[in-house]
Amino acid sequence: MTASITRVTTRVIPVPLLRPWGPDVPRVTVVEVAIENDAGAAGHGFSWTPSIGATAVDALLRDDLAPWLLGRDATPALWQDAWEHLHEAGGGGITTIALAGADLALWDLTLREKGVSLADALGRTHESLPAYGSGVNLHYRLDDLVAQARRWRAAGYRGMKIKVGKPDLAEDIDRVAAVRETIGSELRLMIDANQRWDLRTAVRAVSELTRFDLAWIEEPLRSDDTQGHRALRRSIDVPVALGENVHTIHRFRDLIEAEAIDVMQPNVIRVGGITPFRDIAALAVDAGLPLAPHLLPELSAQLAFAEPGDCWIEDVEDARFESLGVLSEQSGVEIVDGCAIGGRRPGIGLRFA
Ligand code: MG
Repeated sequence: MTASITRVTTRVIPVPLLRPWGPDVPRVTVVEVAIENDAGAAGHGFSWTPSIGATAVDALLRDDLAPWLLGRDATPALWQDAWEHLHEAGGGGITTIALAGADLALWDLTLREKGVSLADALGRTHESLPAYGSGVNLHYRLDDLVAQARRWRAAGYRGMKIKVGKPDLAEDIDRVAAVRETIGSELRLMIDANQRWDLRTAVRAVSELTRFDLAWIEEPLRSDDTQGHRALRRSIDVPVALGENVHTIHRFRDLIEAEAIDVMQPNVIRVGGITPFRDIAALAVDAGLPLAPHLLPELSAQLAFAEPGDCWIEDVEDARFESLGVLSEQSGVEIVDGCAIGGRRPGIGLRFA
């Protein structure tokens, strides 16, 4: 018999960034969720948001999710019912971000009771996965961008990703050219427009930038614009990566069926946690699309270790929770010579100080 949930608590934790992601993003916010059961066991999960919605997520957890969870079986199997409970406030977004905190806590509780790590519980298929250096660097001066690319190359990363979307396309071209020259022709280079372009601008920009041998263009358009991505894919020869702002399996399925996506990039928190992430990853496998989970390598790598297909781990410079000094317990995921390894601690491994 599964023990019942007896207590749900939250804690908002501001996490200052060592390298701000822009003038308006000096920090990200974690909302820690702790769940206890009537057998005396506890699990810890977290929600996360870079700039928008942390207090709303916390309020949703405290006011609408915690009372609903109390007395229910302490298992991630309640995910679908919890999602349906919150759905009136939106099928994805704040609701799924909040739900992720509870889902992670329930996975953590369940796995710690068994003394098993997440990747091993899910069925580890990889001991090591390639990681790529990623920078939130559109605001960097060109020499700082090139210096970052040099650090990534020296650290052994197999690929790198930089931001594009300057007001003047000529500046994007200069920056991508400089980074390609710095890293050489062997390493993969990805670019990320963070939804800054419209279709016309994207076609023009990618047509100019394709000569730098790009592994993908990420979020060229507003992520809601399925038909725009479909039209763009038909006009360019660079793969389209998408998903960090896609919140449900239904939306991912729509993108696949519309032939609007080449690389699947779900964020484990924004989709609602480990439970829906697994289903979305299975969708990627079925569609034959590579998986490149968005951010949070300490957790994303543990999930990717259990995926059968082609996976890339994103590692934003100096942005791992471990680097930011906010953990009391590390996940055990390390990035060594450009590859993610480890992740063998019980539960989801992470605890915030
Ligand atoms: Mg991105």
